[in-house]
Amino acid sequence: MKPEDLKKRILSRQLTPDLEGQEAIVCGWVSHTRDLGGIRFIVIRDKYGEIQVTLPKGKVNEELFNLADKLGMEWVVAVKGVVKNEKRAPQGAEIIPEEIEILNRAISQLPLDPTGRISADLDTRLNARIMDLRRPQTQAIFKINHHLLRFIREYLIKEDFIEINTPKIIATATEGGTELFPLAYFEKEAFLAQSPQLYKEQLSSVFERVFEIAPIWRAEMHNTTRHLNELIMVDIEMAYGNMYDVMEVLENMIKYAFEGTSRECQKELKILNQKIEVPKTPFPRYTYDEVLKMLENKMEISWGEDIGTEACKILGELLNGFYFIIEWPSTSKPFYIKIKEDDPRVSESFDLNFDWLEICSGGTRVHDKEKLISRLSEQGLNPSSFKFHLQTFDYGMPPHAGFGLGLARLLMIITGMSNIRECVLFPRDRTRLTP
Ligand code: ATP
Ligand code: MN
Repeated sequence: MKPEDLKKRILSRQLTPDLEGQEAIVCGWVSHTRDLGGIRFIVIRDKYGEIQVTLPKGKVNEELFNLADKLGMEWVVAVKGVVKNEKRAPQGAEIIPEEIEILNRAISQLPLDPTGRISADLDTRLNARIMDLRRPQTQAIFKINHHLLRFIREYLIKEDFIEINTPKIIATATEGGTELFPLAYFEKEAFLAQSPQLYKEQLSSVFERVFEIAPIWRAEMHNTTRHLNELIMVDIEMAYGNMYDVMEVLENMIKYAFEGTSRECQKELKILNQKIEVPKTPFPRYTYDEVLKMLENKMEISWGEDIGTEACKILGELLNGFYFIIEWPSTSKPFYIKIKEDDPRVSESFDLNFDWLEICSGGTRVHDKEKLISRLSEQGLNPSSFKFHLQTFDYGMPPHAGFGLGLARLLMIITGMSNIRECVLFPRDRTRLTP
């Protein structure tokens, strides 16, 4: 076959009975071969599914017939042949080959079984992630991710948000220094960004509605099933709005993305045995105080404390699906979160949870420079290290609000995965830096 022939290839989902009698070229990875004596099968796989190549003895030339036996799993082949109707084949059609070209071979001792029939633990799978991604189940997760992202973007653009890209190498800590990865930056010390927070706030004073979907890094020591050290964050910031306006964007964005993804990913969801339930809006809202009351006889939390993992697990049994926890204690939220005017104990902030899992945090921001400076000091941060941020508040800063949502956590919910590592192509955790 000539290189131009490969471009003429059809994909598995295009190989349908209406092509009966026509010549077709297909490419893919050898999934398995079967030998029934008088007939041999080569099943190849492309990104959409499987293709059956059938070699009846005597009907295809002998060299081809013998080749079928020599192909190894995951070898890359191009097949030219004639399409024939066959009810038992995937898509109801098969190919009787005239030519089979081996484009590349794979080793015979593969680290994983690409059909997924022989199961392997997550660590082994992640060590051979590209091989693992050949499994339809793993592939399904990331095809769903693609559509989830697409609909999130589509919704925000529809709502007049503009996409921004902010620097990921930064000079000062965004929210205090503990979770920052330091970086050698020529003669200076720099850090990997843990959030686009300050930049998106500044940019809301220009573009009014902004969003960013980008990686951030957190040097969190703990190794849990819901934390990674590198993650993709969906961030928005909007001028002339408060926490309630942002919560509305968030719930409608999730609803829109779930509807779209459910529509586009029927096949992938079936592979994963999942059904997307499109949530009803508005999502239930509980204040921090109400949540503490719900937990009263089950868990001792003193007022002001965070609602930790244990408490969230209990809460997940009482509340199902998406729900907001609003008005967190002022001391528990970062300096840029606005304090509630008529009740300074609490802040204009929210978390969005699904069952027991936190998905998103957000709130109304402080837009008054003097108040922001005193919030920084209260939290033990030095206002002078925020000079470049603070000066933008001298140029006319509108009231604004926003949120940050962990993409992989939303994907965990849709795909039903219990470990976040399943939902990131190449996860980075405390011990894993490769592949
Ligand atoms: P958590 O309490 O779960 O550690 P957080 O409150 O520290 O999260 P935020 O600063 O509120 O995190 O970040 C916003 C969102 O980003 C979180 O709601 C979560 O979905 C996601 N997120 C934060 N840290 C991580 C992480 N280490 N790994 C994966 N996702 C994360
Ligand atoms: Mn949070």
